[in-house]
Amino acid sequence: MSILHPRRLTRQVTLGDDRVGYVRIGGGLPNRDGTPTTPAPVSVQTMTTGYTYDIDKCVAEINRLTAAGADVVRVAVPEKKDTDALKQIIPQVRVPIVADVHFHFQRALEAVEAGVHKIRLNPGNINDRAQVIDVIQACKARKLPIRVGVNEGSIIERKDKQRRLKELGEFFSNNRRGYLLAIMITKLEEYLDIFYEQDFHDIVISAKSMDAVTVLEAYSEISKRFDHPLHLGVTHAGPKETGCIRSVVALGSLLANGVGDTIRISYASDAVYEVEDGLEMLYSLALRERKGAELIACPTCGRIQVDLISLVQDVRKMLASDIRLPIKVAVMGCIVNGPGEAEGADVAVFAGDRRGIIYVQGERVANVPEEEILTKLLDECKKFQARVESGEVKLGEKKVEIIPPDPIGELGSGWEAIAEKKRGGKPGTAQLTVGQS
Ligand code: SF4
Repeated sequence: MSILHPRRLTRQVTLGDDRVGYVRIGGGLPNRDGTPTTPAPVSVQTMTTGYTYDIDKCVAEINRLTAAGADVVRVAVPEKKDTDALKQIIPQVRVPIVADVHFHFQRALEAVEAGVHKIRLNPGNINDRAQVIDVIQACKARKLPIRVGVNEGSIIERKDKQRRLKELGEFFSNNRRGYLLAIMITKLEEYLDIFYEQDFHDIVISAKSMDAVTVLEAYSEISKRFDHPLHLGVTHAGPKETGCIRSVVALGSLLANGVGDTIRISYASDAVYEVEDGLEMLYSLALRERKGAELIACPTCGRIQVDLISLVQDVRKMLASDIRLPIKVAVMGCIVNGPGEAEGADVAVFAGDRRGIIYVQGERVANVPEEEILTKLLDECKKFQARVESGEVKLGEKKVEIIPPDPIGELGSGWEAIAEKKRGGKPGTAQLTVGQS
């Protein structure tokens, strides 16, 4: 039995069209019209970083994000020239597009006219009841879902000075996180009432913060109070290096507890990383079926005798561009602990003294110098992929069993070989039992 909590059941929304395809978000509960739904795979979203009005660049960025595996791409539409551009952008892309609307409800109406597949509204800056109703009606007429995103950064009142003073006063005088959660939920309830009054239920909710603990608390609370699907995210998470940790801590914990239907990781970086890391998180939690190779690599240690860190980076890029099947590939620095750690890999390389021995499902296929490892490994991965596609072999069919005659002696790796080398002896002549370290 999985240690992961079963997915929380929600209503379901669908976005897309016949040309770009459809993405379902959430599910498990029947929709309002009684249509039964089944939970959709957790989807990965991202957002473009360039100007939407710069049409060619925007199309190129969306296509790059789609190629990286994004299920949905959001674009900013701060000005009319951005919503005008959408009319030309949407026919050139192959993924559902969401218009991210702040401050100007007209941008939402224009984006709907331009053919977007979903609208994101922020109750913190579009809260005029009549304007919200206009957007709801426009989306309803086109069967478009709306995400209501109550971000920490914009939830405290800005326009009404008296109300702002009161909200800020409460924020500073009380438990800040508790107050923030209270105001997020209260404003969400007030806002959603407008939607319900209009009999509009194609809603996704988000409640992002830059603080991972606030994200955990906010989504946990919201998941108990609403049955709409949830869009998870840590907003303004920072550069990839730290943003990754914050996002994985918050989103990974929620997902492991069954909460969350679509995710967006936010980095101050190329948005392709957001997609790659989001997918890897879902693969790691077994919430999505892996597409492309899975790379296992050792962290290296004092036994290493090749430039493994560069090799791993090169292998990662090579697998991303050339391997489409979920082949498990292990890159190990030595034969000492490698076999156990690479158990289950379809293709594995074990490095030694400036050499690498390559195995395919337990069968030793090559012993090459360091400079040839990358090419030979790619060659073997491609050959293996072709054999899987032809039905000759299956992924994960055989375990790696690296017990060839005297592998250590041949690679010149292992403690004894290293020690002998340090003593000035000839490397590659020592014997060592696999697994000893
Ligand atoms: S023991 Fe070998 S496989 Fe393990 S970290 Fe060190 S070099 Fe890598």
